[in-house]
Amino acid sequence: RAVGILGRQRARESSARTYARSFPIVPVRAKGMTVEGADGRRYLDCLSGAGTLALGHNHPVVLEAVRRTMESGAPLHVLDLATPEKDDFTDALFATLPGEFADRARIHFCGPAGTDAVEAALKLTRTATGRRGVLAFTGAYHGMTAGALAVTGRVSARERVAEGVAEVTRLPYPYPYRCPFGVGGERGTALAATYAERLLDDPAGGVAPPAAMILEAVQGEGGAVPAPDSWLREMRRITAERDIPLIVDEVQTGVGRTGAFWAVEHSGITPDVMVMSKAIGGSLPLAVIVYDQDYDAWLPGAHTGTFRGNTLAMATGAATLRYVAREGLAERAATVGARMTARLDGLRHALPVIGDVRGRGLMIGVELVDPAGPVDSCGARPAAPELAQRVRAACLERGLIIELGGRFDATLRLLPPLTISDEQAETVLDRLADAIAHASA
Ligand code: PMP
Repeated sequence: RAVGILGRQRARESSARTYARSFPIVPVRAKGMTVEGADGRRYLDCLSGAGTLALGHNHPVVLEAVRRTMESGAPLHVLDLATPEKDDFTDALFATLPGEFADRARIHFCGPAGTDAVEAALKLTRTATGRRGVLAFTGAYHGMTAGALAVTGRVSARERVAEGVAEVTRLPYPYPYRCPFGVGGERGTALAATYAERLLDDPAGGVAPPAAMILEAVQGEGGAVPAPDSWLREMRRITAERDIPLIVDEVQTGVGRTGAFWAVEHSGITPDVMVMSKAIGGSLPLAVIVYDQDYDAWLPGAHTGTFRGNTLAMATGAATLRYVAREGLAERAATVGARMTARLDGLRHALPVIGDVRGRGLMIGVELVDPAGPVDSCGARPAAPELAQRVRAACLERGLIIELGGRFDATLRLLPPLTISDEQAETVLDRLADAIAHASA
């Protein structure tokens, strides 16, 4: 039956369904960290819906929220009308935000995906500042949409924002292993800050004052690359001094994943806009932006969308946020994540294909390299994307779901649920080490 489904899917789906192509699994049941395929095989899931499932699959708290809401008779879909569930979700979310941000923050419910909220953040800051350009970073991932507004006819929807794709200036993201900026640490931060300031202040630098800077505190799809706290503080200083709103995309890093409830908490920076999705919906699609009241520039109707009020997602989201906070799962992610990262780092001697191990909390990246390749000026070896594909396949054979990412598609990304047990963490690493050894032999 599994083969039948896969065959039909392969024949009819475009290759855009990347997961369906790379994982020959037809999931039929799942609980916690375990996914069961139609063929009866069980897998430990280190992808967690690309970091969506903070509590793993079908957590009792999530199921109870679904059951309670369904039985309450609440309308499941009401566009963006105020509902008790939406109100409750907003309370639960604001209770998790850093105080100085929460006190001044507004929330806007967006279309259900992270990319919708990113669009909203870019559009809001462009409306608020009247500027057009955006500062972004190499290796960043913020979504896949572009252009729906540009092809919308209603003039009033378009007149207060610059149309079309933003003019983007890309700065190097700190990535010590392949150091586009020389070095990590304080020296790297100082160089990166000087570079950004010169670019922004040089009248011949070619960069008009931008509407926003957007960044991830830990790049996710970019290969689990954490930015140094000092770098984040410098980017905050530079943008604040120039009245450039800072958008922090917490779509993947949020809800405890990095070992703090929100990744901005590690560096203590206060963003102007936070973009949130994935785990805030507690398994169901939900995306919002939360932003400083100074940027509350939209008139009613300025940014609409049909699926902004999914009652079930509000309920599962609120239940998840409260559970993560109550059970201290961010702290747990920090502890387990540090242990897993340390053990992976220790494998580097025995397995020289492991070029770099990095991450924060339960957002861990293992970059695979060609150990026979030449060492570059940063001390890095060439990335090994084909090996990474073989390792992913070898992981699957050993009952482990792991996805690739990173700039060269050579980074194994571990995004287990925050509820991962110590024993599961060990099993994941046993299987992963065995898969790497096998695939690189
Ligand atoms: N921002 C970040 C940081 C992400 O990791 C992702 C998705 N991986 C997105 C935005 C886009 O979210 P979505 O796929 O839900 O559109």
